[in-house]
Amino acid sequence: MTTQNKTTTHILGYPRVGSQRELKFAQEKYWRGEIDQKELKEVGSLLRHRHWGDQVGAGIDYVSVGDFAWYDHVLSTSMLLGHIPKRHNNGFPDLDTLFRVARGKAPTGCACAASDMTKWFNTNYHYIVPEFSADDQFNVSWQQLFEEVAEAKKAGHDVKPVLLGPVSYLWLGKEKESGFDRLSLLPRLLTAYQKILGKLAGLGVEWVQIDEPVLALELPKEWADSFKLAYQVLNGSTKLLLTTYFDNITHHLDKIVELNVDGLHIDLSASPEQLSEVVAALPQDWVLSAGVINGRNVWRADLAQLLSVLQPVKEQLGSRLWLASSCSLLHSPIDLDLETELNPEVRQWLSFAKQKCREVTLLAQALDGSELAQQECLQYSAPIKARVTSELVNNAEVRQRTAAITPALAERKAPYAERARQQRTALNLPLLPTTTIGSFPQTNEVRTQRRDFKAGRLTEAEYNTALKGHIADAIERQQKLDLDVLVHGEAERNDMVEYFAELLEGFAVTRFGWVQSYGSRCVKPAVIVSDIYRTKPMTVGWTCYAQSLTNKLVKGMLTGPVTILGWTFPREDLTREEVANQIALALRDEVADLQAAGIKVIQIDEPAIREGLPLKASQWQAYLDWAVNAFKISAASAEPQTQIHTHMCYSEFNDIIESVAALDADVITIETSRSDMELLKAFEEFDYPNEIGPGVYDIHSPNIPEVEHITQLVEKAEMLIPAERLWINPDCGLKTRNWEETEAALRNLVTAAKSLREQW
Ligand code: GLN
Ligand code: ZN
Repeated sequence: MTTQNKTTTHILGYPRVGSQRELKFAQEKYWRGEIDQKELKEVGSLLRHRHWGDQVGAGIDYVSVGDFAWYDHVLSTSMLLGHIPKRHNNGFPDLDTLFRVARGKAPTGCACAASDMTKWFNTNYHYIVPEFSADDQFNVSWQQLFEEVAEAKKAGHDVKPVLLGPVSYLWLGKEKESGFDRLSLLPRLLTAYQKILGKLAGLGVEWVQIDEPVLALELPKEWADSFKLAYQVLNGSTKLLLTTYFDNITHHLDKIVELNVDGLHIDLSASPEQLSEVVAALPQDWVLSAGVINGRNVWRADLAQLLSVLQPVKEQLGSRLWLASSCSLLHSPIDLDLETELNPEVRQWLSFAKQKCREVTLLAQALDGSELAQQECLQYSAPIKARVTSELVNNAEVRQRTAAITPALAERKAPYAERARQQRTALNLPLLPTTTIGSFPQTNEVRTQRRDFKAGRLTEAEYNTALKGHIADAIERQQKLDLDVLVHGEAERNDMVEYFAELLEGFAVTRFGWVQSYGSRCVKPAVIVSDIYRTKPMTVGWTCYAQSLTNKLVKGMLTGPVTILGWTFPREDLTREEVANQIALALRDEVADLQAAGIKVIQIDEPAIREGLPLKASQWQAYLDWAVNAFKISAASAEPQTQIHTHMCYSEFNDIIESVAALDADVITIETSRSDMELLKAFEEFDYPNEIGPGVYDIHSPNIPEVEHITQLVEKAEMLIPAERLWINPDCGLKTRNWEETEAALRNLVTAAKSLREQW
């Protein structure tokens, strides 16, 4: 193939945090005042150069610039546009302005409420929500992007700046005042974008990646229509690659092909089936950036298979075909080479950001006709092909068990009303029973002990003794507080998912597989590599130990199947439903074992149900159906007199209340205090039949809730839900609080419950 026909390669963005989480540690040091801004900026620059180097080293044509962010790329966009919340807007915005908007405070300047943070589409990344008012102005302001472009150019790279597009930027924000529509700000916003593009052109930029991920959503008409104006105004100074990701965009394709841009990127990992339709509709002079290397998961790409899919497209498009990651690699861990402790068989199935760059270029070389590369693609795919029949992956017993799931398996043995009757006798709880959500303070002591145990400085016996000490301490404190249903406190858990991932068969846990969740916070999701099953009880020992110390009820504590699935890297050769069912069956056995050991109350946490919703509302119900079913399978081994709790901690139940009710948990505890019990309305309107514990104080805040305040909230709740079906509990687990705050808050909670009990 001639060089003119060469496939151009790029990625949509690289993880910014650093393979050793260098950015996180530097940010936190800066916030604590241990390093100055100059030192922090040096770390940023070092990481950017390293990450460009990783891309160039892999043979990527354009390095991405503008994907680096000091906290979040949506917030970077706000800074670039000089669009800062009014309360933070004093003087020219600088790095500390950015931190103040994100965190409410920075080493300099005054403290003011931080902006809200919310999930980036259906990922576990959180962005800072832009705040819009009718009189907002946009002016090219913060120079970081331009400086980074110059920095990359100086290092000799071909750069492709990444910008969040104007329509997505508006969509992702929210109005701060009523009676105005943020879409009306578009014309003003476009003027600023025009200036940005002009400046980039002045720096010698040829292509700009302009991200409009909202195109994957089912948009209201006026939003879908707004793209036309936006891209009429924007084109001119540089070429624009319109990037979409996380789902297919064919529902907007007729509008997209009318836009005044120079190319389109589609996510072919999330939606491979859109390829032919998009190719057929692609305007003659556009490039197509095929996002074939999955940016959101850790699996090695099947390059041989991709090669055969893309070859006809290459023949049709020639040099107009670009190859890329499906979305930004922000959502994948950085370097598989660091995982020296992974089982070698498993390791050859995986690929992290650094390796994914090489996948893009290898595939491009193969497409461009290199026989060597074509051979390499075949070899590269061999382990994934072998995985299909690997004994490590496939467990016939597990498959038989999921195949044998019947609708009846998901049903409790008696309807709620009957269960409630039996539970009243079996549990003998007072009106307005008090409980907590599971975890108690994860003290430095516990964390150090866990680290020492993992590093071999504590023996297993020593570690277990230490944990028993923490459990005994938690039980004693709860007894003194006179709570009604106690918990063991989760001292043995580093994380509510990783704990189970380590104990169940079927998961691999990485050492450095960190992914940014928000700001300096990273998570290290486990990987579901094979069929999941349980070889031994996971929580029975700790729960029974706790129960042996008290005459009060101790609530067993499990993480539900949908949440375990949602907070891990899933395998892709099975449906999510199938994997959720495998986990559900393992948990079902745990529920049975807890019950057999005498535990009468068991909580199965499902905080991730809502965030697993597909991007397109038309697909919600299908998801909710299997998600609810998986939860029910895990719970239904409980006898009628065993009380099943669940817990969810997100706002908004309105649109999924039917499914929440379908979980048929005997008790659900939810986060409501910040909404002043507003969220309970959905339950009232739906005539939610089972018991509810609306959280009566916000565990994210160190403030101690007053008895008065708790009382008022419960009184408010009682107007919506009858007292006989109300529980009193905090909003969520208490692991991030200290004991002093925890005890003071719970003391007030119990006092409020007791006085209301007397009155009612
Ligand atoms: N049981 C868990 C805890 O208390 C629940 C955490 C959560 O809802 N995210 O920590
Ligand atoms: Zn919670």
